[in-house]
Amino acid sequence: MRKKIVAGNWKMNLDYNEGLSLFSEVINIINDEVTGQQEVIVCSPFIHLHSLTQLAKGYKVAVGAQNAHQAESGAYTGEISAKQIKSTGAQYVILGHSERRQYFGETNELLAKKADTVLANGLTPIFCIGETLQEREAGSHFGIIKSQLEEGLYHLDEAAFSKIVIAYEPVWAIGTGVTATSEQAQEIHAFIRSEIAEKYSQQVADSITILYGGSCNPKNAPELFAQADIDGGLIGGASLKSRDFADIVKVFN
Ligand code: PGA
Repeated sequence: MRKKIVAGNWKMNLDYNEGLSLFSEVINIINDEVTGQQEVIVCSPFIHLHSLTQLAKGYKVAVGAQNAHQAESGAYTGEISAKQIKSTGAQYVILGHSERRQYFGETNELLAKKADTVLANGLTPIFCIGETLQEREAGSHFGIIKSQLEEGLYHLDEAAFSKIVIAYEPVWAIGTGVTATSEQAQEIHAFIRSEIAEKYSQQVADSITILYGGSCNPKNAPELFAQADIDGGLIGGASLKSRDFADIVKVFN
């Protein structure tokens, strides 16, 4: 069976103390109410990482970062390496979020390098792909998704690729309140899985976790997560409210 995951993406929100109190609320609710085998991840700003991993000890919640530099170390003022993230106790790194592609010019080629560095440091990438509204309206969304996979991840051998978590996040659904319908999301998730089966094997395709992200909330999550190829969610806005985030996690109880 594939791993079910609900991951929060706090983005550039919450000061240090606000982050710690939200996380404390989340781990306590999850401790009391989560009975399923789902994995829960909180991807925080870098400033919170170490403290969150300390708070998470003894709780079933993992911590992740939202970006990493592609180089191992060196003269890259203001950047954070995968090795530094690993040293905080974090286990995951979001890569290729559309906000990084859009505002920081991250290309598939760069993200391929980031995926290598993150994996080499024993961290799990949550690798984001997804089309813009313009691309969907032009009917090019399947092609865009395919090239994001090909150029970002297909250089990996089967063993390395199998460690990746994929997040399908249609750009037009992120932070807009307009979620993809469960049919639209399922269609793309099934497409991603069939592409992976073709490139690697059916076994790899069947075992890889593919998350949906984009205006996911406690109301729409049950229908989305019930789709055959949707294995959970990457949650932005709703992860900033402990009750909403926990209710999304509990869809898998
Ligand atoms: P949203 O963000 O849930 O606020 O739409 C999702 C994401 O960007 O990961």
